[in-house]
Amino acid sequence: MTTQTPLDPPLETIRFHGLKAGPKLLVLGAVHGNETCGPNAIARVVEDCRAGRVSIQRGEVTFLPVANPKAYRQNTREGDRNLNRDLRERPQPADNEDRIGNRLAPILRQHDMLLDVHSFTGEGVPFVFFGPDDNRGELEPFRHAQAEAAFAACLGVDLMIHGWLDIYVRLIAARERLGLPRLAVTEGFGTTEYMRFAGGYGVTLECGRHDDPASVDVGYRAIRNVLAHLGLSDEAAPAPARRVVVHMDDLVLCESEGDRLEGTGWRTGDRVAKGTPVARRADGSVVAMPRDGFIIFPNPKAKPGEGICYLGTESSRDA
Ligand SMILES: [Zn+2]
Repeated sequence: MTTQTPLDPPLETIRFHGLKAGPKLLVLGAVHGNETCGPNAIARVVEDCRAGRVSIQRGEVTFLPVANPKAYRQNTREGDRNLNRDLRERPQPADNEDRIGNRLAPILRQHDMLLDVHSFTGEGVPFVFFGPDDNRGELEPFRHAQAEAAFAACLGVDLMIHGWLDIYVRLIAARERLGLPRLAVTEGFGTTEYMRFAGGYGVTLECGRHDDPASVDVGYRAIRNVLAHLGLSDEAAPAPARRVVVHMDDLVLCESEGDRLEGTGWRTGDRVAKGTPVARRADGSVVAMPRDGFIIFPNPKAKPGEGICYLGTESSRDA
């Protein structure tokens, strides 16, 4: 018997073209293969569009329900590596995610805005990640900050976080001080960073726990809200609501074996008072919250060079 190399499944898109002019929206699911709420939420909206319960009047919406088919089929986060890192085109693709990147990057460039639907491990409230303020810097120049923040605020989730690439640069610097292998800043570039590079904007929606049926409802509601917000459908745009906006501006790095999160039950978005112990070093010393703020991505399994948790403060940016 000959062993067959498993075939790479293709990417499937479903696109609705409104008959009037308007923006081009891309909705992604399963960039991480085990995050099935995206494909499930998209399937419901596609059914709505086909049945006429949602009528796309203007612009275009493209649904790409499963961005990483190999990982999705395996029900794993990654195929060969994290698709949401170092996303770009490569003339010599070396792995599954390189090959997807060669197709996904041009699809992203064909659109004006992106909603990337994810879910997470463990408990916690849904939240949305959005990008930097308008700037002409080197790291992530941008000029759609207001539109992107409004897009994030319309989704229906109460917690909005920004500051990803800046904190990633700090993570790289902290790792370097510890003599750990150097990470490239391009590693921090995923789908939304690629959209901003390409002249558009986009947000990452974290709908809730991977296996919680409510996560699908969060994703579904968010897509419906965005179609109305952008005027693609004629539904009334969701009423503006007050959101908690957090600037992720600090991290606690696992510096050596034995450094760990202090306490259990932390969830992204938990408010933490100044002085509260958040981590403990291997030598027993405590890392306390430097100011009133929020804990983000608490990781009880952090290995040296990874974040034990990230910290945020209430942001001055307006949603
Ligand atoms: Zn994800």
